[in-house]
Amino acid sequence: MKSRRTFIKAAGLFSAWSAVTPALAESFLTTPPQMSVMGPEEIGFTQLPLSYSYNSLEPVIDALTMEIHYTKHAAGYAKNLGDACMAEKVDMTQVKLSELLGRISMFSVKMRNNAGGHYNHEFFWRSLTPFNSRNPNAPTGEMLEAIRTHFGSFENFQAQFNDAAKNRFGSGWAWLIKTADGKLKVGSTPNQDNPLMDLSELKGIPLLGLDVWEHAYYLKYQNKRPDYIAACWSLINWEIVERRFKNA
Ligand code: MN
Repeated sequence: MKSRRTFIKAAGLFSAWSAVTPALAESFLTTPPQMSVMGPEEIGFTQLPLSYSYNSLEPVIDALTMEIHYTKHAAGYAKNLGDACMAEKVDMTQVKLSELLGRISMFSVKMRNNAGGHYNHEFFWRSLTPFNSRNPNAPTGEMLEAIRTHFGSFENFQAQFNDAAKNRFGSGWAWLIKTADGKLKVGSTPNQDNPLMDLSELKGIPLLGLDVWEHAYYLKYQNKRPDYIAACWSLINWEIVERRFKNA
């Protein structure tokens, strides 16, 4: 009974995609069902409420920046993603956003920018935790071990991540990812691209992402992007990053 349900679900996914890509069906039908519990974090097509208030990231990120970022920029990506899905016949009730990103080269630039923009922001909000001056905010346990294994030390990892975020020319994101061969890697993507996209140079499962668009920091930091990057370390929700690492 379970396998029949799985098949029906997969067949539904097939029909949802078939307008776009008949060839895709085979890969879904041959993917073992247990794969769905591992892999990239699932983020839906709609904008979720924040789990903290606009001012709870102060003094690192000011309340006005958060409010504009969430209600204008991020909300815009979510709305435009819905419009693009409608226009390009993607059934948002059947297709996972992470799967859409994995096939993004088949869609329009509008889809690429807004599917990425929406995913990246939902992912980013969850990666942060309210500012607490008593919280040392560093990884522990398996996450810390993995960082030491791949980067030598937490400080080396931070230095690499800072460089990736600083050196991304123009708008984009810095990432910590887990690659297909199980390694941790730091890098960046332009605009609203992300490492789940088939056309991304940096490819893997995102564990941590930092928005380095000017809209993320300009009100408080103006042109001083490195100061914003340095300050953001105190906001990272390492519990979530570690959970992503274990599930990836
Ligand atoms: Mn942003």
